[in-house]
Amino acid sequence: MARLIDAGPGCPTPTPLRGKSAAEARGLVYDDAVKAETDPLYPLVQDFVTPMEWPAIAPLVAGINRLKREKNAVILAHNYMTPDIFRLVGDFRGDSLQLAREAATVEQKVIVQAGVHFMAETSKILAPEKTVLIPSLEAGCSLASSITGADVRLIKQKYPDYPIVTYVNCTAEVKAECHITCTSSNAAQVVEAIAKEWNSDTVILVPDQYLAKNVAAQTGIRILTWPGACEVHEQFSAEDVKQLREAHPGVVILAHPECPPDVLEAADYAGSTSALANYVSEKRPSKVVLLTECSMSDNVAAENPGVNFIRPCNLCPHMKRITLENIYDCMVTGVHEVTIPEDVRVRAKQALDAMLALPKMERPLDFVTGLKPMELELVV
Ligand code: SF4
Repeated sequence: MARLIDAGPGCPTPTPLRGKSAAEARGLVYDDAVKAETDPLYPLVQDFVTPMEWPAIAPLVAGINRLKREKNAVILAHNYMTPDIFRLVGDFRGDSLQLAREAATVEQKVIVQAGVHFMAETSKILAPEKTVLIPSLEAGCSLASSITGADVRLIKQKYPDYPIVTYVNCTAEVKAECHITCTSSNAAQVVEAIAKEWNSDTVILVPDQYLAKNVAAQTGIRILTWPGACEVHEQFSAEDVKQLREAHPGVVILAHPECPPDVLEAADYAGSTSALANYVSEKRPSKVVLLTECSMSDNVAAENPGVNFIRPCNLCPHMKRITLENIYDCMVTGVHEVTIPEDVRVRAKQALDAMLALPKMERPLDFVTGLKPMELELVV
C-alpha cells in the first residue's frame, strides 16, 4: 500500500535560525507597517497558519511583495506549493500548462518560478528575454530525471517513423529532441492530433509510463512509452481506493492521471490538476479525496469551504524545496538564474509551440474512469 500521509492542513512555519525567526535573521521585522499591510492577507491562510505563527511569516510575505515591486518581478506558483506561497505571494497560480501560458505573456522583467526546475526552464524557453529565477536548484522531479536528450535520440533512431510526444515534466534538452509536448490537461488531445498529422497508428509518449497507459486507454491509439514515473503519484494503488471507500462511505475519489491505471479504474473521476480543482468547485461533493500531492488538496480545500476533504496524500519532496525564505533570498541575490543554450532553447520551443498552437480547450480534458488498465510496449 502507498505510504499515505494524513497530513491534515499543513503549512510549514519558517525555520528559526539561532533563536531568531527566519524573517528576523533576514532583517525583516513584524512592525506596525507590516502588520497593517499583511493583516488583510491572513484570512487566506487562517486554516493553515495559527495566529501565533503569523508574525514569523508576515514579514517574509511583505518583504517578497516589496521586492516584486522593486525588481519588476512576478511569481508563478504551481498548485503543489504550500498555501503560504500559493495564496500569499503567487501572482499567477495554476498547473504546468496555465503557468507556461502566463510565462509567455507576463510583462514583468523577472519571473520567479515557485515550482520545480523543469517549469522554470519552460518559462525561460517561452520568455528568453526575461530573467527566470528558481529559488532552489534541488527542486527537481523524478520524471524529468528519468530520461535524457541522448535517450530520445536513440529512440528516434530506433523508431524513425513515429512521432514523439513528451510530457512537459522533462528537461529542455529532452523537449528539444521531441516533436511536441503535452500536459496532463491536454495529453489525449495532443496524442490524437499528432497521430493524425503524421498519419501514424502509433505514437511514442515519454517519460511517464502511467500517463501513457492512461492516455492509451482513453484514445485507443497504440502508444509506446518509457519507464519513468512520478514518485508521488505512483505510490497510490487500487487497494488505497478500496480502503478509503471502506473507511469513508460515500466519499468521492478523484485521481491524477500520473497515478497507475488501476487507480483510475477504481476512482470516481480523473483529470489534470486543474480538472480536479474544477471538479471540486463545480460539483461540491460533501466528502472528497484527491489522490495527488498534499498541498494541492490544501489549496483546493482553502478555496472550497464546506467541502469535507479526507486528506491522505503524498508529499512531493521536490516541490517542498521551495519556501518563502528561499523565494525571498533568490529575489535579493538573483540566484539561481535559469539558463539554456540557445540552440536547445529554440528546438525545445518548437515542441512547446506545437502544443500551444493546438486549439485552446475550453477546459482540461476529463479522463474516463473504470477502464481496464493496458500494458504498453517500452521503447528502451
Ligand atoms: S509531483 Fe511528481 S511530477 Fe510533480 S514535480 Fe513532484 S515528482 Fe515531479
